[in-house]
Amino acid sequence: MSDCIFCQIVSGSIPSSKLYEDDQILAFRDINPQAVVHFIVIPKQHIDSADRIDASNSAVVARIFEQIPQICAQLGLRDGYRVLTNVGKHGAQSVKHLHFHVLGGEQLSERLK
Ligand code: AMP
Repeated sequence: MSDCIFCQIVSGSIPSSKLYEDDQILAFRDINPQAVVHFIVIPKQHIDSADRIDASNSAVVARIFEQIPQICAQLGLRDGYRVLTNVGKHGAQSVKHLHFHVLGGEQLSERLK
Protein backbone atom coordinates (compact mmCIF):
# COMPACT_ATOMS: atom_id res chain seq x y z
CA MET A 1 0.00 0.00 0.00
CA SER A 2 1.59 3.22 -1.17
CA ASP A 3 0.43 5.30 1.82
CA CYS A 4 1.66 2.77 4.42
CA ILE A 5 4.96 3.78 6.01
CA PHE A 6 5.99 0.18 6.69
CA CYS A 7 5.31 -0.75 3.04
CA GLN A 8 7.55 2.20 2.16
CA ILE A 9 10.23 0.84 4.47
CA VAL A 10 9.92 -2.52 2.69
CA SER A 11 10.29 -0.82 -0.72
CA GLY A 12 13.26 1.22 0.51
CA SER A 13 11.64 4.60 -0.10
CA ILE A 14 11.85 5.25 3.67
CA PRO A 15 15.20 4.28 5.23
CA SER A 16 15.39 1.99 8.24
CA SER A 17 17.99 0.49 10.51
CA LYS A 18 17.65 -3.11 9.35
CA LEU A 19 18.49 -6.04 11.60
CA TYR A 20 17.21 -8.88 9.43
CA GLU A 21 15.61 -9.31 6.03
CA ASP A 22 14.54 -12.20 3.84
CA ASP A 23 12.02 -12.62 1.06
CA GLN A 24 9.05 -12.54 3.45
CA ILE A 25 9.90 -10.49 6.53
CA LEU A 26 11.89 -7.48 7.69
CA ALA A 27 13.18 -6.47 11.12
CA PHE A 28 14.37 -2.94 11.88
CA ARG A 29 15.01 -0.77 14.91
CA ASP A 30 12.12 1.35 16.16
CA ILE A 31 12.67 5.03 15.46
CA ASN A 32 11.34 5.91 18.93
CA PRO A 33 12.66 3.15 21.19
CA GLN A 34 10.73 2.34 24.37
CA ALA A 35 13.50 0.16 25.80
CA VAL A 36 17.28 -0.18 25.50
CA VAL A 37 16.59 -2.58 22.63
CA HIS A 38 13.41 -2.04 20.62
CA PHE A 39 12.93 -3.41 17.16
CA ILE A 40 9.98 -4.16 14.93
CA VAL A 41 9.36 -7.23 12.80
CA ILE A 42 6.93 -7.05 9.90
CA PRO A 43 5.69 -9.20 7.06
CA LYS A 44 6.65 -7.67 3.73
CA GLN A 45 3.14 -8.27 2.47
CA HIS A 46 0.64 -5.75 3.79
CA ILE A 47 -1.59 -7.17 6.52
CA ASP A 48 -3.55 -4.53 8.44
CA SER A 49 -3.09 -5.98 11.92
CA ALA A 50 -3.10 -9.20 13.97
CA ASP A 51 -6.87 -9.07 13.63
CA ARG A 52 -6.41 -9.95 9.95
CA ILE A 53 -4.32 -13.09 10.48
CA ASP A 54 -6.00 -16.17 9.03
CA ALA A 55 -5.08 -19.47 7.38
CA SER A 56 -4.17 -17.69 4.14
CA ASN A 57 -1.39 -15.58 5.68
CA SER A 58 -0.38 -17.17 8.99
CA ALA A 59 2.74 -18.82 7.55
CA VAL A 60 4.49 -15.45 7.50
CA VAL A 61 3.60 -14.96 11.16
CA ALA A 62 5.27 -18.29 11.92
CA ARG A 63 8.31 -17.09 9.96
CA ILE A 64 8.43 -13.96 12.12
CA PHE A 65 8.28 -15.96 15.34
CA GLU A 66 10.94 -18.36 14.09
CA GLN A 67 13.27 -15.44 13.41
CA ILE A 68 12.73 -13.39 16.55
CA PRO A 69 14.85 -15.72 18.76
CA GLN A 70 17.68 -15.58 16.21
CA ILE A 71 17.68 -11.77 16.14
CA CYS A 72 17.46 -11.58 19.92
CA ALA A 73 20.39 -13.98 20.28
CA GLN A 74 22.45 -11.82 17.91
CA LEU A 75 21.58 -8.78 20.02
CA GLY A 76 22.60 -10.59 23.22
CA LEU A 77 19.16 -10.60 24.84
CA ARG A 78 20.00 -13.61 27.01
CA ASP A 79 17.80 -12.59 29.94
CA GLY A 80 14.58 -12.34 27.98
CA TYR A 81 12.53 -9.86 26.08
CA ARG A 82 8.93 -8.91 25.33
CA VAL A 83 7.02 -9.38 22.07
CA LEU A 84 3.81 -7.45 21.58
CA THR A 85 1.49 -6.24 18.89
CA ASN A 86 -1.08 -3.46 19.09
CA VAL A 87 -4.41 -3.89 17.32
CA GLY A 88 -6.78 -1.15 16.25
CA LYS A 89 -7.95 1.96 18.07
CA HIS A 90 -8.26 0.52 21.58
CA GLY A 91 -4.95 -1.27 21.12
CA ALA A 92 -3.33 2.09 20.22
CA GLN A 93 -2.07 0.80 16.87
CA SER A 94 -0.60 3.81 15.04
CA VAL A 95 0.81 2.07 11.95
CA LYS A 96 -1.83 -0.04 10.21
CA HIS A 97 0.58 -2.71 8.98
CA LEU A 98 0.97 -5.82 11.13
CA HIS A 99 4.09 -5.51 13.25
CA PHE A 100 5.55 -7.10 16.34
CA HIS A 101 7.48 -4.98 18.79
CA VAL A 102 10.41 -6.69 20.48
CA LEU A 103 11.67 -4.95 23.62
CA GLY A 104 14.55 -5.89 25.86
CA GLY A 105 18.04 -5.11 27.06
CA GLU A 106 16.76 -4.08 30.49
CA GLN A 107 14.25 -5.17 33.14
CA LEU A 108 10.80 -4.37 31.76
CA SER A 109 7.78 -3.47 33.85
CA GLU A 110 5.47 -6.27 34.98
CA ARG A 111 2.54 -4.13 33.87
CA LEU A 112 1.08 -4.72 30.46
CA LYS A 113 -0.82 -1.44 30.30
P1 AMP B 1 2.24 0.98 16.97
O1 AMP B 1 1.94 2.16 17.83
O2 AMP B 1 2.10 -0.34 17.67
O3 AMP B 1 1.47 1.04 15.66
O4 AMP B 1 3.78 1.06 16.64
C1 AMP B 1 4.30 1.75 15.56
C2 AMP B 1 5.76 1.91 15.83
O5 AMP B 1 6.39 2.27 14.63
C3 AMP B 1 6.11 2.98 16.84
O6 AMP B 1 6.82 2.39 17.92
C4 AMP B 1 6.98 3.97 16.06
O7 AMP B 1 8.01 4.51 16.82
C5 AMP B 1 7.49 3.09 14.93
N1 AMP B 1 7.85 3.79 13.73
C6 AMP B 1 7.10 4.70 13.05
N2 AMP B 1 7.77 5.12 11.96
C7 AMP B 1 8.95 4.46 11.95
C8 AMP B 1 10.09 4.47 11.09
N3 AMP B 1 10.14 5.24 9.99
N4 AMP B 1 11.13 3.68 11.39
C9 AMP B 1 11.11 2.90 12.49
N5 AMP B 1 10.06 2.84 13.34
C10 AMP B 1 9.01 3.61 13.09
